[in-house]
Amino acid sequence: MPKDGFKSITVSETVYNRFYDLYKENKINLTMKGVNSFSGYITYMLEDVMQKNNEMSRYFPKLEKISADDDRIVLKDNIKNRIIEVVFRNNEPYCLFCDNKNCFHIGFVFSLPDVYKVLDTKGIKSPK
Ligand SMILES: [Zn+2]
Repeated sequence: MPKDGFKSITVSETVYNRFYDLYKENKINLTMKGVNSFSGYITYMLEDVMQKNNEMSRYFPKLEKISADDDRIVLKDNIKNRIIEVVFRNNEPYCLFCDNKNCFHIGFVFSLPDVYKVLDTKGIKSPK
């Protein structure tokens, strides 16, 4: 049982050994960074990855708004490297790319505060 304030996870021996080897190899460097234990190392690594992911999504958003008109929102999907158009038909959003009324592009459109405000005043609701 882990001590108070700690939780344990179980990983396969292969995974454990792989990370443990890395830890041993970098032990001197890590000690200089204030990482003094294997679990400290794992925490440090996960934190690092998480931070990089956050930075990635901040600086390289997967989706970007290109333009927003009355009846059409143009997005750029940076993963697929495609232009996505979301149009409004009968007060319902429709994604021309996915051919769908409920995809993550539409979710993204409704997550944009300025767009949401306009849609809301027009009575266009997010599909739920
Ligand atoms: Zn879509």
